Amino acid sequence: MYPTSRLNTVLEQAWKRKYYQQHWVMNLNEALSLLDARQYHALPVIRKRDISDNWDTLIEYGDFTDAVSSSGTTGRPVDLPVHRLQEQIWVDCVSRVFSELGAVPGDKLLQLLSNNDMFTLGPLVWQAAKKTGIGTFRCSPQRTKRILEVIKYHQPKFVAGNPNIMLNIANELGDDFPAPELLPDYAYFGAGVSFDGHNEPTPVTKKVMRLWGLKDALNEYGCSEVGSIGHECRYHNGFHINDDAVFVELIDPATGLPSKTGEPGEIVVTSLTVPRGFIAVRYGTGDISAWMDYEPCECGRRTPRIGAIIGRIDHQLKVLGQTVFPDLIFNIVDTMDTVETSLIVKYSDDNGAEQIELWVSPTGDPEKTIESIRKSLEQRLAVYPKIRQIAAATIKKLQQEKMAESNGVKLPRLIEITNVDFWIGLG
Ligand SMILES: [Zn+2]
Repeated sequence: MYPTSRLNTVLEQAWKRKYYQQHWVMNLNEALSLLDARQYHALPVIRKRDISDNWDTLIEYGDFTDAVSSSGTTGRPVDLPVHRLQEQIWVDCVSRVFSELGAVPGDKLLQLLSNNDMFTLGPLVWQAAKKTGIGTFRCSPQRTKRILEVIKYHQPKFVAGNPNIMLNIANELGDDFPAPELLPDYAYFGAGVSFDGHNEPTPVTKKVMRLWGLKDALNEYGCSEVGSIGHECRYHNGFHINDDAVFVELIDPATGLPSKTGEPGEIVVTSLTVPRGFIAVRYGTGDISAWMDYEPCECGRRTPRIGAIIGRIDHQLKVLGQTVFPDLIFNIVDTMDTVETSLIVKYSDDNGAEQIELWVSPTGDPEKTIESIRKSLEQRLAVYPKIRQIAAATIKKLQQEKMAESNGVKLPRLIEITNVDFWIGLG
């Protein structure tokens, strides 16, 4: 199942960068022989931290046409140069989502994905739209009046955005939000999760589909270090991997070995094309996918598929010593009409021990709501965090503060806080 000859080429190119020579602790021939021995996973994983720490021996500016930045590391920021041909491949992969949605030249797109300096997908989607021949209206999700005007006067057939943010827009506008028939028909869901480990739309996605009156929506998955990794097809059987551009493994974080069939694992990516500013050889994305499947899909494609992103290895929460993924909790809480908003907070208690709490703001009777959340969590999860009632305004304030520190694209739902008493005191 390895794309052996292409992996050969990539390993040979990677070997020219000093960092990999040191990182692999083996010579090139030994590394290449792992492919024949079906032991590719024995090559060490590289992480964002390694990029930051080993910039000069790992990264080549080459003929770069863009620099993509990612947050979340201390030390040297990771502003990766994207070479000219590399960028074209990334754009091509992203444009596949528009083709799958049936977009043709002359179509219009409402683009709600940020084009700001810390976000890679926005500019890629814009370029992919141009490549497809789609006319783009770029709108900041905060400028709801402008969004309304674009919808009213231009009636775009497509929208690209993060489902959580699209839900916020609909909620914020309330009665001013247009009727479904006036809104776009198809959505490109990026920079967020839109379906669960069983290929079912998440509660947020269901609400967005209904409020926006969408006929269909496809989720795309990628990261700024390696570009687009895959996207859904119209049959919604997980993400089809762009197997001409990337080789994907699912790795059990506990053992470093390939995950067992049907089991979750960390998505580890090797880029299959050169040149690259950063040659990714077994790059650990930190994202956990629910499963990997090599069976052909109903759509006729034979590419491997990966399941929904159900968490991050650094967001695995330990409750009573057991692993809990935040998204599994939100997928339950978000279905409840009696909860306005919710958040998971992580903090150190007076003894320095890590504490996890689920903060919810009920719309009705708080005690009944919390009791029904407890029951639902109990039914579906082995362990779950303590549940606390908090005002919706407090949750929003916390999220806004957190958002100002990050790239301002994703709405944070797991927040590490230091002054827990202050926030609880706000109500
Ligand atoms: Zn398919």
